[in-house]
Formats: sequence, C-alpha cells, structure tokens
Amino acid sequence: MHAPPDHHRAPEFRAESAPSGPDVVLSVAELYKRYGEIAAVDRISFQVRRREVVGLLGPNGAGKTTTINMILGVLSPTTGRIHIAGIDLQRHRAAALAQANFSAVYAALPGNLTVEQNLRFFGLVYSVAGLGERVETLLENFDLLRLRNTKCGLLSSGEQTRVALAKAVLNRPRLLLLDEPTASLDPSAAQTIRTRIRELAVDGDCGILWTSHNMYEVEAVCDRVLFLSRGKILLEGDPRRLPAQHGAATLEELFIRLAREPLGDPVQGVP
Ligand code: ATP
Repeated sequence: MHAPPDHHRAPEFRAESAPSGPDVVLSVAELYKRYGEIAAVDRISFQVRRREVVGLLGPNGAGKTTTINMILGVLSPTTGRIHIAGIDLQRHRAAALAQANFSAVYAALPGNLTVEQNLRFFGLVYSVAGLGERVETLLENFDLLRLRNTKCGLLSSGEQTRVALAKAVLNRPRLLLLDEPTASLDPSAAQTIRTRIRELAVDGDCGILWTSHNMYEVEAVCDRVLFLSRGKILLEGDPRRLPAQHGAATLEELFIRLAREPLGDPVQGVP
C-alpha cells in the first residue's frame, strides 16, 4: 500500500482555504466508493484535528481500508472530497500527500534492507531535509540504535512496528494513518507502541486516524471513534462515554451490537 514516491515530492504548498479551520488536518466530505452494486464506502463525512487520535472502527468489510486507501490516494473515490491539511487531494495530489504518511502491517518494509537503510531510503523518497540528522533522531526516539545495522526481515514484530512508525513520521506528517499498528504484538510491546503513538500526536503535532479491532486499546488511546458499518458511519463519539450513552456495559459490547444490526434498523439506545 505504499503510495508512489512522486506523491511525496511536493513543492512548498500553501492551502488556500482549509475546510473548517487550521486545526483540521483531515476533512472527508461525502466520500463514496462503489464496486458494481456494492457501496464499500457510502457518502461518509468526518474530520480529524491536530493532536487528536481518531479510531476508525467497524467489522470486517465495513469499509475501513477502502477509506484509508482513498485518503492515501491509492484508490480514487467514486465521488466525494478529501482535504489533507486544507489541501484538496484531487486537485493538488502531490502537495496533499506530502502532508500525510502511514503505517500498516500489510505494508512491510523491505526485509533485505537494514533499519538504517530503510529509514534513509524512505527519507529520500519523501525528500526529507537534513536526512542524516533526522534518521539519527528517529533511531534514538524509537529505541532502534542497537538495531540500526540489522536487516528488517530479521526483526521481531514489535521491533518491526517501531521501524514502521519511525518511517511513518520521517516527513513530519500533519496526518498519520495507522492501520492496525498493534496487530500481532504481545501486550507489553503493544502498550509501548500505544504510548508512543499518543506522544506522536502531541509532540509531532499531528492528527492520527487509527484502525483497530482491539476495543481495550481503542478506549486507552482514542479521543474519538467513528463506527463504520457497511460503508456508513453509524456512531461517533468518545469511546469512554459511548457505551453508557447507548446502554452497553463496554465498548466491545456496543461494537458487537452495532456490527450485528441490519443497516437502517434502530439500535437500542442509538438515536
Ligand atoms: P477488514 O476489517 O476485514 O480489513 P474493512 O473494513 O477494511 O475490512 P474493506 O476492505 O474496505 O473493509 O472492504 C469494504 C467492502 O468493499 C467489502 O465488502 C469488500 O468486499 C469490498 N471491496 C473492497 N475492495 C474491493 C474491490 N477491489 N472490488 C470489489 N469489492 C471490494
């Protein structure tokens, strides 16, 4: 799912009019993707602000990956608009994508390159200024100094996730997309990564869109969640408050109830 390199070689670009203010790093409006008769993503609208971690939740096939792929410019929407840091993705593709980055388990880094070589390679792809210094900082920040000369294919899952996150912040993105960043990690490694991601939102001053099937970590990390089912946003809110607001004991219980409801049918407690 790596976006082609030229998307990140953007010249300096100033957003003319950021939809809904300078704090909005992602604005999705009436986004729609159709495959034949299936609406994989069905006219959804939402925003992500800087320093905010937003969880994109939903059962298998809900449309999460399709949504992320459209935001990354990998897929073209059937209709709808996407602005990244106020820049229209359709009209100014390279400039918009230069403001974003991503990490996903299914987009592994080349295993035959060392940790340092991978960071240098992607740093060149993203035209990172002062690359040598940036790589050293990230090796230190992500506890990778002792692994710098190790090939990525030999790393543990937790180590690979740390390298993938370091790669994802190389270009200091305003918007970070993380597709199941803690999948396959042990509880301790997952906690380390969750802490790091929260720090990234604040210290990196970016907005994060995060997908996960782990409701415990969603409650621990996300400021807000969007619940997607069959391409539509059914529910949105604070993951710590939503269960009580909708008569569920836990977020997981609410998730299961929403996932099983036929679309259009009222969910108990859900307006
Ligand atoms: P998961 O949690 O399993 O990763 P998801 O929420 O990411 O699921 P998507 O992969 O976005 O879901 O798929 C949404 C819907 O679109 C599914 O019904 C899927 O079968 C369909 N779909 C996705 N890609 C295509 C395609 N290239 N052609 C036809 N249908 C597709």
